[in-house]
Amino acid sequence: MRIAIAGAGIAGLTTALLLSRAGHGVDLYERAANLSEVGAGVQISPNAGRILEQLGLGPALDHLATRPVAIDIRGAVSGRVIVSLPLAKAAARYGVPYRLMHRGDLQGVLLNAAIADHGIKLHLGAALADFADTPAGMRFSANDAPHEVDLLIGADGVRSKVRELISGPNGRQSSGRTAWRTTIPAAKVPADLPRDRTTMFLGDRTHVVIYPIRSAREINVVAIVEENWTGEGWSEPGDPAWLAVHFRGVSPLLQDTFTAAAGWTRWYLSAVDPLASWQKGHAVLVGDAAHAMLPFLAQGAAMAIEDAAILVRCLTRANTDIEGALARYEVLRKPRVTRVWQTARQSGTIYHMSPLTAPFRDATMKTLGGERLLGRYDWLYGWRQTD
Ligand SMILES: Cc1cc2nc3c(=O)[nH]c(=O)nc-3n(C[C@H](O)[C@H](O)[C@H](O)COP(=O)(O)OP(=O)(O)OC[C@H]3O[C@@H](n4cnc5c(N)ncnc54)[C@H](O)[C@@H]3O)c2cc1C
Repeated sequence: MRIAIAGAGIAGLTTALLLSRAGHGVDLYERAANLSEVGAGVQISPNAGRILEQLGLGPALDHLATRPVAIDIRGAVSGRVIVSLPLAKAAARYGVPYRLMHRGDLQGVLLNAAIADHGIKLHLGAALADFADTPAGMRFSANDAPHEVDLLIGADGVRSKVRELISGPNGRQSSGRTAWRTTIPAAKVPADLPRDRTTMFLGDRTHVVIYPIRSAREINVVAIVEENWTGEGWSEPGDPAWLAVHFRGVSPLLQDTFTAAAGWTRWYLSAVDPLASWQKGHAVLVGDAAHAMLPFLAQGAAMAIEDAAILVRCLTRANTDIEGALARYEVLRKPRVTRVWQTARQSGTIYHMSPLTAPFRDATMKTLGGERLLGRYDWLYGWRQTD
């Protein structure tokens, strides 16, 4: 099979590695000339970590990752812990640890593995365009040169051009929310901010997620706010003065953490309806291209990694029946991805409750307790590929 992948993000790199390990040669095209350290932290939950470990990447990840002992949920104004979800035993509970990383580090681990893999031809600075599906295969151009393959895998992110070919334009949904992101040297954040766990602050129609990355040398901060800005980039600078006004009245712990930040970038959050088609003819989608989700469950990259595993398994089992393999992939993945996508959306509603309703939410979380709250995600973190 001649296989091309559009996009060397987490979805494209993982798919390329799994394809190559299954004996398929693959051309991996990335429009960026080099893969820079876009974004900040990423949480790799056990369901995705298991697949990366099967690729033999566990030691490389552990070298750069932090294993959180808990997720503490606090009130943004009081600063007090409402509930703490125990993650220290994640490895025992799910078979694989929960890891916190810099996105660039994760991408670097995948990229190094792809470069060392003789089955993968990596083409940087090569944007794919001019797609045409024909009975003989998928045609496209890369740097103005024509190509034809038996299968094109669209791993080209939330603004996917491959998706337009499959399900038409206008696949993106607005969220009315932005993610403000920064990383801070650990030595500069307040001493009473825990460095061994994820801390989430729930405020009035806002929430903030903070966790250690790079072996706890840096602290990743993401503040989700409701605003009408709809910028396109992943790295638009954000004005700290605006953020300070928005978060006026929050606890000193959170305020001091914000003050320690040297600068902020903000990303507009959008999503892609997972129920639209993911495959047609000789093309198929993985990752954000298929089903970008709101980041309130920290599962976008994890779902991309799971997609890669299931797609490659379907292709390998179907041998030459590509169409059958793609249809099977979509049938196998859609229910789970849709559930995760909807749960992420619901989490946003729960996290962003107004001061009127938030006390009921907090009381419910306290009553349930951390152990039971974590247990509600066993279906998510405990997932593994089945035959
Ligand atoms: C604030 C925030 C926090 C998040 N936190 C987490 C988390 O903790 N855990 C988690 O699992 N997920 C998280 N996510 C989601 C996660 O970042 C994404 O789901 C994931 O990065 C998607 O990977 P991808 O490879 O599908 O897409 P992308 O990372 O967008 O990669 C697409 C690639 O395709 C390339 N490309 C685009 N068009 C073309 C073309 N025509 N030709 C060639 N190349 C092309 C792009 O340059 C890019 O490199 C978060 C997201 C946000 C916004």
